[in-house]
Amino acid sequence: MELGLSEEQRAVQKTARDYAERRLAPAARARDESKAFPVAELRELAELGLLAVAVPEELGGAGAGAVAYSLAMQELARGDASVAVAVSVTNMVAELVARIGDDAQRRRHVPRLASGEAVCGAFALSEPQAGSDPAALATRAERTAGGWRLSGTKQWITSGDHAGVVVVWAMTEPGAGHKGITAFLVEGGTPGLTVARLEDKMGLRASSTAQLVLDDVAVGDDAVLGGVGGGFRLAMMALDGGRVGIASQAVGIARGALEAAIRYAGERVQFGVPIIKHQAVGNMLADAATWLDAATLLTLRAADLKERELPFGEAAAMAKLFATERAGLVCDLALQVHGGNGYTTDYPVERACRDVRVTRIYEGTSEIQRIVIARSLLARAAREGR
Ligand SMILES: Cc1cc2nc3c(=O)[nH]c(=O)nc-3n(C[C@H](O)[C@H](O)[C@H](O)COP(=O)(O)OP(=O)(O)OC[C@H]3O[C@@H](n4cnc5c(N)ncnc54)[C@H](O)[C@@H]3O)c2cc1C
Repeated sequence: MELGLSEEQRAVQKTARDYAERRLAPAARARDESKAFPVAELRELAELGLLAVAVPEELGGAGAGAVAYSLAMQELARGDASVAVAVSVTNMVAELVARIGDDAQRRRHVPRLASGEAVCGAFALSEPQAGSDPAALATRAERTAGGWRLSGTKQWITSGDHAGVVVVWAMTEPGAGHKGITAFLVEGGTPGLTVARLEDKMGLRASSTAQLVLDDVAVGDDAVLGGVGGGFRLAMMALDGGRVGIASQAVGIARGALEAAIRYAGERVQFGVPIIKHQAVGNMLADAATWLDAATLLTLRAADLKERELPFGEAAAMAKLFATERAGLVCDLALQVHGGNGYTTDYPVERACRDVRVTRIYEGTSEIQRIVIARSLLARAAREGR
């Protein structure tokens, strides 16, 4: 069993860490307060090859694979989780088009995403009445001469107001359930595609979360991604990979919070000694560090399986479930170690607690991850006759 990193993986990790420490962390609090979407930062990340780490080089990505991508996500989230989520969705959309798109789609969209020319990508699956159950989506795509007309409302779309490329899932055969869903590539600014509202969120405040309205949005046949009726399978495939990204994001947020808590516990003196010397505080830090290492290993295992093109859906769901749940606990303990100071905006742990919370919700809630894992266990038991 190989647990080491390659030279390339270390290089990507170092580039991401240096950038996050130099450019992201110092302004993260200001971005959180102003809710300023990080356009300049995304362009800089593109220049460093960090906007599409797992996307093939011939399409403008770094071609460094899923493990390097996870490492980069961890570092970026440690610096600013709002920036990290925009990167995560962009990489997910670029990877999906690179893998599933035809030649023209790949050449048109992927280099624009990887280079930052499109600013970022967006993944428009959820709707007001279709969250955990995306097969219930109501957005319609109707055939026209030479193309399609899309109408409906998409909810919770990360970067939806800035994205140059939006993958939109719509029903092309109402009544056919998930088999009637098709994915479309829609460019930002296409007439009829508008932002109806931006959510005012608890955390990830510099990441925008848009409600998008599609009002007779006309696209050509060349916008269909992966075939008519094949959209649901694509969404599930993309989400398997996306979950590795969100597990990595959670690990990164929690790593930053834990490091801050260790620093604080070494400096803060109560009863004549640094508080880390009080066993109760040391125990909190020991538990948090142990959970976080376990979460990191599960996350890298899922990334490694993906990189080797082995089945990784179950491992990704386990990584997301464990990493996001434990990351929440780690951030909470980190705040506890800070005492009253942790509850103020003077220290970064309160933002970590707010930012980390959504990782248990998006790209499939913890409850949905458990369903995915349980189904996979059952299928394996049936296959192996146990
Ligand atoms: C900040 C943010 C960014 C997001 N970004 C995107 C994005 O870019 N693109 C996108 O398409 N979506 C995005 N989402 C949507 C996200 O994926 C959904 O919020 C999530 O899938 C849950 O759906 P829901 O909010 O409708 O909750 P619901 O599905 O209504 O669930 C409510 C509760 O019921 C539970 N529940 C539902 N069904 C079951 C079941 N079968 N068994 C057990 N429990 C169940 C859930 O776990 C949850 O606890 C984002 C959400 C947020 C908050």
